[in-house]
Amino acid sequence: MEAISYERASDVAGAVRAAQQPGTVFIGGGTNLLDLMKGGIARPLRLVDVTHIRGLDTIGSLPDGSLRIGALVRNSDAANHPYVRERYPLLTQALLAGASAQLRNMATVGGNLMQRTRCHYFYDVAFVQCNKRQPGSGCAAIDGHTRMHAILGASSQCIAVNPSDMSVALAALDATVRVSGPRGERVIPFAAFHRLPGERPDLDTTLQPGELITSVDLPPPLFSEHAHYLKVRDRASYAFALVSVAAALQLDGNTVKNVRIALGGVAHKPWRASVAEQMLTGAPLTDATLHSAAAAALRDAHPQRDNAFKVQLAQRAIVRALKQAAGEPGGFA
Ligand code: SF4
Repeated sequence: MEAISYERASDVAGAVRAAQQPGTVFIGGGTNLLDLMKGGIARPLRLVDVTHIRGLDTIGSLPDGSLRIGALVRNSDAANHPYVRERYPLLTQALLAGASAQLRNMATVGGNLMQRTRCHYFYDVAFVQCNKRQPGSGCAAIDGHTRMHAILGASSQCIAVNPSDMSVALAALDATVRVSGPRGERVIPFAAFHRLPGERPDLDTTLQPGELITSVDLPPPLFSEHAHYLKVRDRASYAFALVSVAAALQLDGNTVKNVRIALGGVAHKPWRASVAEQMLTGAPLTDATLHSAAAAALRDAHPQRDNAFKVQLAQRAIVRALKQAAGEPGGFA
């Protein structure tokens, strides 16, 4: 048994100070970290409990119309907040598609951003090859069972996917992540928060050592009317996405004024379908334009041995999610 020390932080500065000691990890809801510790995958020497820091558990509007969601807001509270439900329905839908009600009641928004991949080789320490768990050890998944793995942005070092539903919606909504660390505060655009694996799959995010997430900020709402989160999975609840799509539209009649598309279950980070967005902007919403954009979104896909089906699945999910967002689920000629 390994000894672990525990400290409860009462403010952000204290938490950041406490995290300067090597081997320190912040703990919020603990819904992923405790699993990792029980499995011997995470071995912190010291836990700093941040759940008693005041001011990080609230949701409030900012003067410019943005919305600030504190890092300690529980997933269920964020999903069911009246303003989020009304103005950011994409985020509500994505949050409610994740995990189970019990887990959503415990998990925090900051912790959701930090959850680690569900690659089964990463979680099973009997497989010694895992570059994410042990850098330089290899990747058991590449020659293994790859049905759940990446089709976009993978590397020869790691083909894992990010498991968060919430993060897919936040990517589509152009959120920003506020953090505090030894060098002060900074704001990270959502697209730059999670990493592709490259040569360092052990690093999931661009957070620097000792930095604590304090909030997620959403720009003023643009997509209250037309948004849909579609999650395709093996069973109807409590399962990770094979593919998911966060789709949001602003329409002028049948013409797309503005569109956001992000994919989950396909890459090491939420995957923004920028080329598809460009193709659809200013175009009429028809079957032809939707199918062309969906094909373009997956043009660079490199499926693994067991998951070529994800390419077509993702294309179909993009089309369906956009039709649902437009309010035309049966859709167009
Ligand atoms: Fe580890 Fe990534 Fe390979 Fe999974 S895909 S075994 S997480 S290196």
